[in-house]
Amino acid sequence: MMTGAKPSILEAIGGTPLVKLRRLGADVEADIYVKCEYLNPGGSMKDRMALRMVEAAERSGQLRPGGTIVEATSGNTGAALAMIAAVRGYQCIFVMPDKMSQEKIAALRAFGARVVVCPTAVEPDDPRSYYSVARRIAAETPNCFYANQYHNPANPEGHYVSTGPELWEQTGGEIDVFCAGLGTGGTITGTGRYLKERKPAVQLVGVDPVGSLYYDYVKTGRVTKPFTYKVEGIGEDFFPSTIDLKLLDEIVRVDDRECFLTTRDLVRLEGLYVGGSSGAAVAGALKYARQTRRKENIVVLLPDGASKYLSKIFNDDWMRENGFLDDTGLGVVADVLRLKPAEVITARSTDRVRDVIARMKAHGISQLPVVDDGKLIGAVAEVDLLRYLVSGEQSLDSPVGPLVESEYATVSPQTKVELLQGLLADARMAIVLDGEQIVGVITKIDLIDYLARRAS
Ligand code: PMP
Repeated sequence: MMTGAKPSILEAIGGTPLVKLRRLGADVEADIYVKCEYLNPGGSMKDRMALRMVEAAERSGQLRPGGTIVEATSGNTGAALAMIAAVRGYQCIFVMPDKMSQEKIAALRAFGARVVVCPTAVEPDDPRSYYSVARRIAAETPNCFYANQYHNPANPEGHYVSTGPELWEQTGGEIDVFCAGLGTGGTITGTGRYLKERKPAVQLVGVDPVGSLYYDYVKTGRVTKPFTYKVEGIGEDFFPSTIDLKLLDEIVRVDDRECFLTTRDLVRLEGLYVGGSSGAAVAGALKYARQTRRKENIVVLLPDGASKYLSKIFNDDWMRENGFLDDTGLGVVADVLRLKPAEVITARSTDRVRDVIARMKAHGISQLPVVDDGKLIGAVAEVDLLRYLVSGEQSLDSPVGPLVESEYATVSPQTKVELLQGLLADARMAIVLDGEQIVGVITKIDLIDYLARRAS
């Protein structure tokens, strides 16, 4: 073999550049560096963990010569597995949710993989969900290895053994903050664990899209109502075992609009040809930096490239149709709150059921947030109180604590009104948080009232 050549494309995985942002973030004290994982041969950082998963399966005998790799994937893990399968002689079957770009599906088919598309808008345990379908195909296919990236420890390990050490070396240990979007959590958990072992002061910042479960869970310990959003690859509606949320020092929330506008800026202002979750991660890092105002080195991981999103993020018609480019004029959550009394009616978990009922009656409301020591811990609703009283076992003098539920979603005052409609189809109410402070509550009728007034 020629001395400069690699035995296969798989040896080209990793070794991606670390680049300093020059224009974005010029207004923050911190220096922001980006790890260009989109330059991996399979198109994303998933190459690293896919190789680890395949090699672990080969070692354990789960994957044998001529075998089939099955996976539920939003595209990048699929591309990585398909590339590895091509080199090593395996077949692939991938199951994807239908919100994914056509380009991603076509790319997997280009590698010779079979792709099965499933509805996005069903619960994860629904038999039609892409997780369920992948499990079923895996069970029915002979000589098959179900990669199961959401529960395969080789996923975070792949980053622990490669992304982590590589960043440690490239930064010469001068990294202060590592920031990445949260999907399976493999990236932040594996890379973060390695970096913290080398330097415990390294701060791990996870970035989560509005609509995903992680943010509320980390901030309040409650599992709120997930709802759909457009950015691909990050956010979840269940908890994968590959993520260790306790490892995170901070979690930052971003909405689709800021993800996509930042993505476009990364391409146009920095020449970084990246996809939507890269914009999300950088938008999250900028928010973090504006909040901490520290002179430090923040490293942000850029997962994949722009080409898979040309018909979406980089298409002005698509951006405009979704209200991401021009303002649709419907306003933001703060505008809806302006029509409501400023006082937010809340309860404490130690309040008696009797008093909470009286408070709801006095204010003509059917649900309210429960706040202990200034921190949102959940909500109680009329229907819960009713169910409780009808059960007959409890008294009106018991505390409401055990009745606290999570049938709400949280938003910020800057959240676009368009988002509320989808959110309130699933959640009983939207609790508006400015940082940790509750500044309002919005229910369906508040939204109807707001929209009706604008129309008249
Ligand atoms: N961005 C993109 C484009 C992805 O495909 C993924 C993987 N779901 C992520 C970010 C999140 O990475 P991880 O699963 O390691 O948390």
